[in-house]
Amino acid sequence: MSKTTFTTHHGMTDLLPGDIEQWQALESLIHETARRYHFQEIRTPVMEQTELIARGVGQLTDIVSKEMFTFDRGEDHYVLRPEGTAPVARAYVQNHLAQRGGTQRLYYIGPFFRAERPQKGRQRQFHQFGAELIGSSSAIADVEIIAFMTAIYRQIGIKNTTLKLNSVGDPATRDAYRKALHDYFRPLADKLSEISLNRLDVNPMRILDSKEDQDQPLKAAAPRITDYLSEKSREHFDAVKELLDRLDIPYEMDPFLVRGLDYYTETAFELVSPDIGSQDALGGGGRYDLLIEEVGGPPTPAVGFACGIERLMIACEALGITLAHPSGPDIYFVTRGEEAARWALEKMPELRNSGLVCTMDYAGRSLKAQMKDANRQQARFAVIIGEQELQENLFTLRDMVKSEEYQVTSDDIAGRVLS
Ligand code: AMP
Repeated sequence: MSKTTFTTHHGMTDLLPGDIEQWQALESLIHETARRYHFQEIRTPVMEQTELIARGVGQLTDIVSKEMFTFDRGEDHYVLRPEGTAPVARAYVQNHLAQRGGTQRLYYIGPFFRAERPQKGRQRQFHQFGAELIGSSSAIADVEIIAFMTAIYRQIGIKNTTLKLNSVGDPATRDAYRKALHDYFRPLADKLSEISLNRLDVNPMRILDSKEDQDQPLKAAAPRITDYLSEKSREHFDAVKELLDRLDIPYEMDPFLVRGLDYYTETAFELVSPDIGSQDALGGGGRYDLLIEEVGGPPTPAVGFACGIERLMIACEALGITLAHPSGPDIYFVTRGEEAARWALEKMPELRNSGLVCTMDYAGRSLKAQMKDANRQQARFAVIIGEQELQENLFTLRDMVKSEEYQVTSDDIAGRVLS
């Protein structure tokens, strides 16, 4: 009978030792940067009610219409969260965070789920870090969010990026613009790609997202939303640009950056990289002044960003950036016989308490096999223990890097390794 083997779901991967160190180092860097920007971490469940995501992300988006992992339990409909902003908005309302006063500055790191066709930089379980600044409509908040996001890439050393910037205005702007787009594209309908044609009557702004070749010349001559901004939206956008200039954060205007999510208002931005392949967006975000009300809270302005960790890792690899190397143990106890193994087991806690990373053989292997294992694990020192060593309280401490040996007593091991 053949054995059944199991694999991860399509587009979901295991993160293994050897790679995980890079992830841990990145997470530390994000936590540290967040601390300096005075953002506080929030962790929400990976499941949310389907209705929250449908409202918060928008029924007409690809995410809601075809990419959700949904399941039902009794009368309840749930989804594995496809993004982080609607869940944070829900948490803000549910936990009355507004009552804590001032603005809420929240950030998160975690897994997200979208049933997309997997390819390089696009997975079904992927990871994002993101931040939300809730309770301010000031352009200063937009720029603080952008500064926080770009600071992370700058510190990692990913410099070859472009910040694309646009404004999608307020609801009145968008209504006028949708109509203008519809009027423009309608006579060109037979030239549009099928996917854009489907969007024409439902959400013509999404035609601007199209990557189809045949849509590009039609897009190029399309009306631009920045020509339709209300006076208030224009003032806000001008202030954002001026503040970015003052902070020396370069940007490029992208009139077609409308993003797929319905809750965005005013500023929209995306950080792209030429080093990560066709899925070139490292992250993006914008203002979403309508979302919190949409999910049951009071009208509350907010701005945020979300960035993909897998794509950040692809950029690091392309640029040869290593954030952390896997490190071996400080001490590997090589033991001969049961008594020696027990002694090592008892000795290790004391050494670990002084900060040393200790390990030993756990499978009763030969001395030769243990030395090989110590080498493979890149141990700095091996301590060799047998019956005689225990009787005499004199051990061989081998420096695996310098290939030198010292005779030490039990009490001297830590001092010698730490020296
Ligand atoms: P979005 O929530 O769609 O604005 O995505 C924000 C960022 O998350 C993108 O710029 C990507 O870096 C990353 N991202 C989104 N979807 C995926 C995915 N399916 N696989 C990997 N990364 C993703």
